Amino acid sequence: MMRRIGNGSLPSRRSFLQGASALTLGALASPSLVGRAFAGGRPDWSKGNPFSLGVASGAPSADGFVLWTRLVPDPLSTDPAMPGGMSGGTVPVGYEIAEDEAMTRLVRKGIATAEPRFAWSVHEVVGGLKPGRPYWYRFTSGDASSRVGRAMTLPAPGTTLDRLRFAFASCSNYEHGYYASYRHLADEHPDLVIFLGDYIYESIDTKHPIVRKHSDGVEARTLRQYRNRYTQYKLDESLQRVHAVAPSLATWDDHEVQNDYAGEWSPSFEDPAKFLLRRAAAYQAFYEHMPVRPALSTPHGPSMRLYDRFAFGDLVRISMIDGRQYRSREACYGPPNKGGGHLETDASCPERLSATRSMMGTTQEKWLYDGLSGSKARWNVIAQDVLMAKFAQKDETGQTAYWVEDWNGYPANRTRLLQHIHDAHVDNAVVIGGDSHCFWTNDLKPDFDDPRSPTVATEFVGTSISSRPPPYELFATALPENPHVRFFESRKRGYVSVDLDARRMTTKLQAISDVTDPNATLSTLKTFVVESGRPGAVEA
Ligand code: FE
Ligand code: CA
Repeated sequence: MMRRIGNGSLPSRRSFLQGASALTLGALASPSLVGRAFAGGRPDWSKGNPFSLGVASGAPSADGFVLWTRLVPDPLSTDPAMPGGMSGGTVPVGYEIAEDEAMTRLVRKGIATAEPRFAWSVHEVVGGLKPGRPYWYRFTSGDASSRVGRAMTLPAPGTTLDRLRFAFASCSNYEHGYYASYRHLADEHPDLVIFLGDYIYESIDTKHPIVRKHSDGVEARTLRQYRNRYTQYKLDESLQRVHAVAPSLATWDDHEVQNDYAGEWSPSFEDPAKFLLRRAAAYQAFYEHMPVRPALSTPHGPSMRLYDRFAFGDLVRISMIDGRQYRSREACYGPPNKGGGHLETDASCPERLSATRSMMGTTQEKWLYDGLSGSKARWNVIAQDVLMAKFAQKDETGQTAYWVEDWNGYPANRTRLLQHIHDAHVDNAVVIGGDSHCFWTNDLKPDFDDPRSPTVATEFVGTSISSRPPPYELFATALPENPHVRFFESRKRGYVSVDLDARRMTTKLQAISDVTDPNATLSTLKTFVVESGRPGAVEA
């Protein structure tokens, strides 16, 4: 017997059928909608479990969320006409939502649609649920049913939320190691997981010893190849469990498309028109594998809106930033080898300092500044892909130089953002990032060169889940010239765990013992605390 949350009454027919579109429950085989797998009037999954990539939820609202899965009875099918072993038309997929993990107190059943044009992925927008609570869900089709995942609704706008436990992760190169980091992250059962980019790697590593191979052995450039990459990654049980135990928010970095790309500019100097075709394929594959809102994020050619914000009651507003799609071209870009990350001095590259350069693009910048000014949340998290703090290094000739690929390549945009945080009195701004495969804890200042410039925000950069780090000495030797860096460590793989309440943010840098060991153990490398009203992290 089905019960609604709280009042124990039976669901109305309308709420019961919400999300079921024109289909009737139980009648999964409307002839106009079935694919080849449904030829007999009932889905036939004898050749493989269609839910072998697991499930995910994301994009929470006060009354619902997005549920994701993708039908892949033959996940790594090499037949270009049958992605994941599927062919034919649209396929209806059942889903159930319950108040409990055992799926006994069902509050919703419906039928979602897996569309061929998006590789039979499902992005089901669920509404009409109660605010501020967890739900559990699963998908069904014929004899097959998916694992159970946990979703959540946001608290009603402006209401009190006492606590949020979230984790953030980035840079999970499959070739570089096992996902012990993801396994331990899942074991923590956070309320929310934030992915900050390099969720997949398009590349093939031929320079270093690898732990396990990208199965197709090619750098991804086409839609089929990008899909194959997500498929291989998502077959990993630890990553699947991360998505099952908690809802997630995600942005991307460069490796979802091509290492070090910026906007329409490829580091390998492809004609932008040609590169944008590749970007379109990569963005579509990202969309097909992430629990993002279809109304916002359905890709259109090479464009896909990803930036978005989520308010968790009065406690925290999280702004998800797209640091790649709208970037200005890399400073001092050009053959023979300046298509990607490289060091530049002020003398060698005045372009880097140009006021017109933007990391976020003018539209997204305005959207972020307006969102920060208007926020009534106690904490304001800016979740994005790369290191924000100034970092002065020495180049080969011993000159002070800056890496052009992170925010150090876009200092005018960095100053605009941090000055805005200062001028608009944004409460408790925290920037989180990935990309560098190192842990960083930094004070963020509108003017890093002026010792009197106030710390206006706190930055935490997670290390990599598995990706190889840069040499420790490369950055460690430059730390004395960068006093706003409170902590740096490149030699550990892992993730970051955050426990947030109205008074403080407690941040644990979580490290695994050995990325080449699937059974690696976990330890906390450092714990930092940010007190509300006092920007800057203090070691606990
Ligand atoms: Fe990375
Ligand atoms: Ca990166």
